[in-house]
Amino acid sequence: MAPKRKSYAGDGFYPTSYYAASRNTVRTPVKLEGRIETDICVVGAGYTGLSTAIHLAEKGYKVTVVEGAQVGWGASGRNGGQIVNGLNAGLSTIERRYGEDAARFIGGLVQEGGRIIRRLVKTYQIDCDLKSGNIYAAYTGAHMRELEAKQALWRKYAMNDHELLDREALAQLVNSEAYCGGMLDTTGGHMHPLNLVLGEARALESLGGTIYEMSPVTRVDHAAARPMVHTKAGEVSARTVVLCGNAYLGDVVPELVSRVMPVSTQMLATAPLGEELAHSLIPSDMCVEDVRYILDYFRLSADKRMIFGGGTVYGGTDPADVVAKLKPNLEKVFPRLKGVKIDFAWSGNFALSFTRVPQMGRIGANTYFAHGYSGHGVTGSHLFGRTLAEAIDGDTARFDVFEKLPWYPFPGGRVFRAQYSTIGSWWYSFRDAIGW
Ligand SMILES: Cc1cc2nc3c(=O)[nH]c(=O)nc-3n(C[C@H](O)[C@H](O)[C@H](O)COP(=O)(O)OP(=O)(O)OC[C@H]3O[C@@H](n4cnc5c(N)ncnc54)[C@H](O)[C@@H]3O)c2cc1C
Repeated sequence: MAPKRKSYAGDGFYPTSYYAASRNTVRTPVKLEGRIETDICVVGAGYTGLSTAIHLAEKGYKVTVVEGAQVGWGASGRNGGQIVNGLNAGLSTIERRYGEDAARFIGGLVQEGGRIIRRLVKTYQIDCDLKSGNIYAAYTGAHMRELEAKQALWRKYAMNDHELLDREALAQLVNSEAYCGGMLDTTGGHMHPLNLVLGEARALESLGGTIYEMSPVTRVDHAAARPMVHTKAGEVSARTVVLCGNAYLGDVVPELVSRVMPVSTQMLATAPLGEELAHSLIPSDMCVEDVRYILDYFRLSADKRMIFGGGTVYGGTDPADVVAKLKPNLEKVFPRLKGVKIDFAWSGNFALSFTRVPQMGRIGANTYFAHGYSGHGVTGSHLFGRTLAEAIDGDTARFDVFEKLPWYPFPGGRVFRAQYSTIGSWWYSFRDAIGW
């Protein structure tokens, strides 16, 4: 008999990671039991859920968050910590697919997510090692031309914060001979992602919001005018429900299953490198990602470890040996780190949408959702949370634009979608390998 699929894809405590080991808050989870009445019930305590919840609580709504595991257990507590402006799909793709008006609208929003993070950090005094600046690194002349085109397009939509870097200029900021140049975005940045989401949880609670943890949602009745969220031991009746389970929602809401596919990506953290070595590798202390389809992304932590991510597995399974997978990439970028001790390695899932454009919408009159940031969601999730909160509060102008963007289910259905996407990614990896 085939094993029964787990409907919710989470399982409790934080996976071992540098972030879990260095988190500055240890929460005592409270489980949902019995029946609760609330204005807004948010499912999932990641950035999307907490951004939605905070923006609504700031407007005076009574907000209840139900999280299946611990706050930030999903991608929000495991990611590269890179505050990169833009959605995974470039503005050129958005312009081509949806037209100039959509690109102008989205172009006007892509820097807002970073501004929301900075506002939350400042207003609620969130201690998450926030730093400024991100760098896109190019391996080849073709990558540089891609960055030039990207800079020109961003300028067309009034974003003038990008500076092209030749080999020498890049080396002043990130000291790797692997790259021939790059582009600096002064409005990007990086932070400790789990401490950010834990700080956001505290902010919500300071506004009167409630968070239940270790309470997987098993069913959502969204057809009723007053939707209901069920867990094994409790239920929440709300005026409005917001589904923010992203890649970990599993099969709980059948209407959302074909919209996104879970994809895993991996990270490692070296032992602390010491001030001098760390500074010699990334003198700017900015975060870096290269511009390949299957990219490397890295930065220094506050205690001067190299935090290095990369690789994808379609379908969201964890590779058997994360260190074996990532260490060669790390050593290629920084040969001086050959043999460096790796203290932590972990994996996490993001939700990929077919077009790489994130989605927000409604199922039933009063149940909203947002997901599918396709690996670039630190800023997008904060922006989407705010946009959902606006819509729920009655201003649907921005929500309507996103809701109307066409979306496509993954070809191959649930069974074959990972295989199809893997074939697609081979093609892009091959392009990466030959520098096309
Ligand atoms: C390893 C890794 C590295 C990444 N690096 C970057 C990066 O550097 N920069 C960047 O921009 N993006 C990055 N991303 C993507 C980014 O982290 C995500 O897009 C973003 O965190 C999504 O936030 P979210 O709140 O939508 O989802 P999540 O953070 O995944 O939160 C969803 C939450 O919902 C809960 N949940 C799901 N189903 C249920 C249920 N049935 N009942 C109750 N709770 C439920 C989960 O337990 C989870 O806590 C990375 C992702 C990964 C995995």
